[in-house]
Amino acid sequence: QAKAAGRRTFMRYDDAMDLVVRQRATISGALRKVLDRGELHLVYQPRLALDSSRITGVEALLRWSSDEHGEIAPTDFIPMAEESGLILEIGEWVLREACLTLHRWHQHGLGQLSMAVNVSVLQLLRGDFPEVVARVLQDIGLPPSALELELTESVLMANAEHTAVKLQAFRTLGVSLAIDDFGTGYSSLAYLKRLPITTIKIDKAFIGDLTHDPEDAAITSTVITMAHSLGLNVVAEGVETEAQMRFLASHRCDEIQGFWLSQPLDAHACLAFIRHWTPDRLPAPLPAAPLA
Ligand code: C2E
Ligand code: MG
Ligand code: MG
Ligand code: MG
Repeated sequence: QAKAAGRRTFMRYDDAMDLVVRQRATISGALRKVLDRGELHLVYQPRLALDSSRITGVEALLRWSSDEHGEIAPTDFIPMAEESGLILEIGEWVLREACLTLHRWHQHGLGQLSMAVNVSVLQLLRGDFPEVVARVLQDIGLPPSALELELTESVLMANAEHTAVKLQAFRTLGVSLAIDDFGTGYSSLAYLKRLPITTIKIDKAFIGDLTHDPEDAAITSTVITMAHSLGLNVVAEGVETEAQMRFLASHRCDEIQGFWLSQPLDAHACLAFIRHWTPDRLPAPLPAAPLA
């Protein structure tokens, strides 16, 4: 009888797996049509400089509202878009759309704003990616210094030998380069030194408990010091509370991004947020925050 019950359990598990596989197949099939149907759009999350209390720019984040499947999170569909190679097309669409938005904002008199765009490993691996980026910037008439490409540590490590050369092409172009989700991968300090990057984004995993967990606090302040000694700009992501903001300001973190400042917003709402932002919205004077 136990055996029968076990077998029934197994059958249910099997059915469930089958369903998951079939759902993945339909979603990745649907993904093929999203660009034509206009189901993708971008939202933008502002970044704040802690010394000047100014909005420095935004990060573009991809959203898919599928007619058939509802809202699908990027962490769910981007891996599928990578498996199918479709991320190349989607990634280029993201780049162009984000640059068009920034160009509009520049024309509204916000010429100092920059745009950060996430880049997938497949995009970086294609030989002509620097040319693709250069062409998009030129078509739109955006200065390369207004664009920052965000790469994760795993993307950089995937092809370590060629990465440094590849990245140099973007630096020559004048585009900034950030390491995203810093601290979650395995890049060594020696390796970091060899890469022509400009910015480190500390992963939100270290920020959430910053003011309660002495280890996260130690890691964060060490990364800030280390990054500055290498001449890099430091951004903390996932900042959700004023206490976290104060800790980061007192440890001389350059910029913050997160729900405390703003959720990711559609282009219209984000422009309104930036225009209505005044530095006095930041509690002054800036800290002498207590250590965790
Ligand atoms: P990411 O680049 O590290 O982006 C930051 C993520 O943290 C975003 O999730 C953002 O909505 C979320 N976030 C922002 N502030 C907070 C906060 O205060 N608390 C918490 N808990 N979360 C916060 P999202 O939009 O779901 O994107 C997830 C990931 O998907 C991104 O992580 C990025 O790796 C990837 N992604 C998003 N858009 C693109 C894209 O256009 N191309 C590629 N290749 N990847 C993308
Ligand atoms: Mg990012
Ligand atoms: Mg990140
Ligand atoms: Mg992250």
